Amino acid sequence: MLRVTEIFRSIQGESTHAGRPCTFVRLTGCPMRCVWCDSEYTFTGGDHFSIDSIMALVNSFGCNLVEVTGGEPLAQKEAFTLIERLCSDGFEVLVETGNYVSTEGLDPRAKVILDIKCPASGEEPRNYWSNVERLRPDMDEVKFVIADEGDWNYAKSVIKEHKLETRSKAILISPVWGQIDLQALAEWIAGSGLNVRMQLQLHKYIWGPDVHGV
Ligand code: SF4
Repeated sequence: MLRVTEIFRSIQGESTHAGRPCTFVRLTGCPMRCVWCDSEYTFTGGDHFSIDSIMALVNSFGCNLVEVTGGEPLAQKEAFTLIERLCSDGFEVLVETGNYVSTEGLDPRAKVILDIKCPASGEEPRNYWSNVERLRPDMDEVKFVIADEGDWNYAKSVIKEHKLETRSKAILISPVWGQIDLQALAEWIAGSGLNVRMQLQLHKYIWGPDVHGV
């Protein structure tokens, strides 16, 4: 059984898959406490679902693209089994993980979006760096959520130190909603010479920052 906060169909708001129809399986619980977290409603509650009942709901939505997210989806061990089942049933699977839990043992058909925590999140010391070594350049993406210039400078140093431009399919630079001047961030990115991609959370522009599950 897995503890699930919500399962819904929407469009993908982030990553290189932004704009595509996508079913989201949002698992409950997270061991992290990023200060700007926009998913605090996942920390507690949720309902218990068997993998079969999750698959039935996912199938009913009719989207080939499925994202397993949270909370921290990999904090529940059975999430690895769910991801394997989704892949085996022919879904294209994205796993958005906060880089605290090891991705070792994850089905290799799933695409990882690794959210490397920057200092302003308050959780940067808990980054699990071995996950970076498992990134595959044709499959996996890296995300940095940026709250201020210090975070941007940190992201740049991590990108260079860990050679993320060659190690990942895309490097996503995502501003904390409402906290950072978007034009300033765009200028930092444009002048950086780095092969990174500024991403805005499309779903928040469509439905607003406080609406989830659409
Ligand atoms: S890892 Fe994600 S869900 Fe967990 S506290 Fe940070 S932003 Fe929120």
